[in-house]
Amino acid sequence: MGNEQEPMDIEGLIRFYAEAGVDSLLSDEPVDRFAETAKPKPAPQPRAEAASTRQSSDAATPPPPAQTPRPAAPAAAAPRTIVPDEAQVAIAREAASTAATLEELRERLAAFDGCNLKFTAKNMCFSDGDPTSDIMFIGEAPGRDEDMEGRPFVGRSGQLLNRMIAAIGLERQQVYIANTIPWRPPGNRTPTPLETELCRPFIERQIELADPKVLVALGGPAAKALTGAPEGILRLRGNWKTHTTPSGKVIPVMPTLHPAYLLRSPAQKRFAWRDFLSVKMKLRELG
Ligand code: URA
Repeated sequence: MGNEQEPMDIEGLIRFYAEAGVDSLLSDEPVDRFAETAKPKPAPQPRAEAASTRQSSDAATPPPPAQTPRPAAPAAAAPRTIVPDEAQVAIAREAASTAATLEELRERLAAFDGCNLKFTAKNMCFSDGDPTSDIMFIGEAPGRDEDMEGRPFVGRSGQLLNRMIAAIGLERQQVYIANTIPWRPPGNRTPTPLETELCRPFIERQIELADPKVLVALGGPAAKALTGAPEGILRLRGNWKTHTTPSGKVIPVMPTLHPAYLLRSPAQKRFAWRDFLSVKMKLRELG
């Protein structure tokens, strides 16, 4: 009785995983761990008995050479993990600062192995929209839908962002959109400060090369990464700040509420609306 197993509640297990943030797979082929543990193990034989059995049943065959244990073959190619450190940040800076075009920057970012988020993400989300636009929107990091498509802001928050952009008379294709971090953190966790530092040279260079007149920081992490302001987004939003590019150009930044937050707190949309109107006016002012 004690050994009888409860039937597996697969649905419950999947729900548990989803609630814990596990909502995507690392490998295309499932690995059946139950089959692995269900394999009957060879019964251990006492050494002397094993040796004598071998000798009596096949006396002419010399005993096989002693086997050195071989490491088990990995089920799937193991991601190459790097211990991110200052040296990787320096590599990122060098790679980003010497990219002459946005396309070259995208290639350099794709080739950069210093941030482990790359190895758990399905796709890199570099940008979407028009890189020659006067306005650039920057979010935090891709979510599940963005990771699947390899484009920023294509999920539910992206759809709300499209409507917010339309509210100031623009279409999504007329603006440039990117993220502070180009790879989805597993389970949508908050990127660590080191991950942000590793990706910072790339987004800074992306801004420099796109050279927009105005930046809109979507949410607290993007606002903090672009302006360095320590305040929370509820305090920051609606107040013009600045971003200084690596070559010293100063670009106005409007920190505003993240569309994902607005989906959870629709009453706050009126504040985002005010921020977007202020962006519209600034664009007019800057001609
Ligand atoms: N949230 C972000 O910050 N960026 C995306 O691309 C999607 C959701």
